[in-house]
Order: sequence, then structure tokens, then C-alpha cells
Amino acid sequence: MKYINKKLTIEKVNFQKIANKFGTPFYSYSYSKLKENITNFKSSFKTFSPLICFAIKSNTNINLIREIRKLGLGADVVSIGELMLALKAGINPKKIVFSGVGKTSTEISFAIEKKILLINAESLSEIKEINRIAKSKNRTIKIGVRLNPNTDAKTLNQISTGKKENKFGVNKNTFYQIVNYCKNSKNVDLKCLSVHIGSQILDNKPYEKMLRTVSKILSEINYEFEFVDLGGGMGIKYSNSSKKLNYKKYNSSICKFLDKHKVKIIFEPGRSIIGDTGTLVTKVIYIKDSGRKKFIILDAAMNDLMRPALYGALHKTLPVTKSNLMTKKTYEFVGPICESTDKFITLKRFQKLKEKDLIAICDVGAYGMSLSSNYNLRPRPVELLVKGSKIKVIRKRQKYKDII
Ligand SMILES: *Cc1c(COP(=O)(O)O)cnc(C)c1O
Repeated sequence: MKYINKKLTIEKVNFQKIANKFGTPFYSYSYSKLKENITNFKSSFKTFSPLICFAIKSNTNINLIREIRKLGLGADVVSIGELMLALKAGINPKKIVFSGVGKTSTEISFAIEKKILLINAESLSEIKEINRIAKSKNRTIKIGVRLNPNTDAKTLNQISTGKKENKFGVNKNTFYQIVNYCKNSKNVDLKCLSVHIGSQILDNKPYEKMLRTVSKILSEINYEFEFVDLGGGMGIKYSNSSKKLNYKKYNSSICKFLDKHKVKIIFEPGRSIIGDTGTLVTKVIYIKDSGRKKFIILDAAMNDLMRPALYGALHKTLPVTKSNLMTKKTYEFVGPICESTDKFITLKRFQKLKEKDLIAICDVGAYGMSLSSNYNLRPRPVELLVKGSKIKVIRKRQKYKDII
């Protein structure tokens, strides 16, 4: 994305042109960015060629998932709906892992029928349920167990998952208990130790600590695992001042780990694959002066992009047409929804805006559209995939008749 003749442009088309044709708000994704992210991810870890399972929950657009499949990735799913979607997108079941703390009997049964690679279980009760269902089908099912390594991911509290107070995974003692249970169960075959300590991780230290914990357990335990699933969580650069996760360092920590343990690595990245491919473009409806600041009231809201309201996330916000005239007052970018948390960002420095101007909210490819809702009975926006100068509608804007 860059400015060409003062117009913000994605691949070979400018957002103003897209808005004229499709209306606002809209989500657009860059195909070349997606391809670049996947190529980079693969080459960063090519020494041990991991199985890369895209975390579907970060973006559930079937057309994007088809592109991701064509670029060689599998899927990490967290519900029967996501599993159905992954299969419909043509992902090989042997490249699908199923995570989540509360899989129902229906979900487990469906996953068994579809012969996916692994069900990553998160409690002894769940494993007993998998064993019971597998037995009734006369099958033996490959499973993983998610360990809670009690590691602070040093990310937003709301998206941290690997500390002992979080609901995810099992502690070390339960883990040992589960390994013993599986040794004596005919219908579950324990193949994988899995971890996932959180999301938007920028610092290598939590990953290093996690690897040390896993390594210690593997050395202590008298059991051979075929896979170690390290989850996702790799952070992206949401602001110019933020750092980026150092993949080289992460790779070398994993290589060191693999010197000791002969296992195949699985990753479950979501945000790092799709996050910076997406942009939400929205129009200024009104500008309201409140004395100390000006409210920039947009036609996009928290129902379209919930991350700011949900966890105070900040997204880079840019004008679609650039000018040199700056505002003298602070701008607060808000949506029209009847909630005070319906705001995107507050900026002291921004170019002077007028009503009907277009604004681009950046890096919304992950947990953007997938967290959207119809709150205030607002239709979900159209999603577009941009490839060079071609624009493809990959999900239509919802119609009122579909939501009323
Ligand atoms: C959410 C989630 C992921 C993906 O996390 P990202 O931060 O988007 O990479 C991977 N694995 C599990 C189990 C998850 O819950």
C-alpha cells in the first residue's frame, strides 16, 4: 500500500476508485501481500519444514482460505463450523488440527468422521469423551494434548492464553496424568504435545521460555511424540514505532530444541499470515466540534471492526487522499453505534478532514471481519480481493432483507 499522486493505492488500484464502485465501508485484501507473508513464513522455518496450519478464526472468508490452501497451508480450526469451512475450501483433512477448550460430542464425532490429522484436546474429560466416541465407531484417533506452560506472552492481557490463570490447556501434573491415561486407552493415540501462549507476541523471550518448558517435559517423560504443535501468536507491526517478532531468532531456538527432540513441528499462525493484508475503508459522515476535540464520525463502526472496542487495539489510520493541511484540533475517529466504546483512535496530528473524505484503517485482515457482527442491525461490509489491477468480490455486502 502506498501513495501514488497523493492517492492511497493497494497493488494497482486506488481506494477512491474502489469506493466509487463498491461503496463504503469495505474490506479489501492484497493478494500479493498474502503471498509474500506465506513465502516469508515458509522460508523463515525452512530448515525443519513445519506443517503450517492457518488459524481459520482470524479470517473466515472461504475465498481467502482457498488462496491460502493453494499456497500450501493447512488449517487450525476451533469449531465444527470452521472445520466444515476448511473442508469446503478444499483443505486436505490430513492438514487440519482441531483446537479449543469446549468441543462438544457432535464436534468430536464429526472430526473423527472426517479423518483430520489431530484433535488437540484440552482436558482429561475431553480425552475420555474422544475415547468413548472413537470406541463406538471402532476407531483409534490421533490426538494432541495442549499444555499450559505457565508462560507470560507479554502481550495484551485479553489475548494472553499461556498463563496458569487462563482457561487454556492443562498443567504439567495433569499432562503427566493424561499421558498415562492414553497409554492405557485403546481408542486414542497420543501423538502431539501442543502449546499456544497467546497472540500478537513481539518478544522472543516468551517463546524461548515456552520451548524450555516443553523441552524439559519431553526429557522427563518416557513417551515419544510424533509432533510438537507450537501454536501461532507471531505478532505484526501495527504501528511504525512497534518492533516485529524476530523470526530468525525464533527459528534458531526451535532448531536447538530439535537437536534434542526428534519431532515434527506444527505451527498455527493466523494474524502473521493475514493481518497486514487487509484494510477497512470508510467515509466521514459528519464532523462534530466538541470544543476541545473534533469527532470524526465514520460510516464504519465497532460492528465492522471490533478490536479497538474489545481490547483497546490501535490501528494505523490514514487519509485516502493526502494533503499538506494539518488539523489544529485533536481528532477522535468514531462510528455511529450507540456505545461509547465505538471509537477507533484519537490522533493529535492528522491532515485536515472534511465530510465525505475517505479514511483507511490498516492491518485489519486478522480478527477484523471474523469478529464483525450485525449490532445496531448494520449489514456486514463487502470484502474484496485485489490482485494487481483486478478486484474480485469475495463476499457481498449483506442486504437488509438478510438481516431483518
Ligand atoms: C487463536 C489461535 C491461534 C492463532 O493465533 P494468531 O495470534 O492469530 O497467530 C493459533 N492456535 C490457537 C489454538 C488459537 O486459539
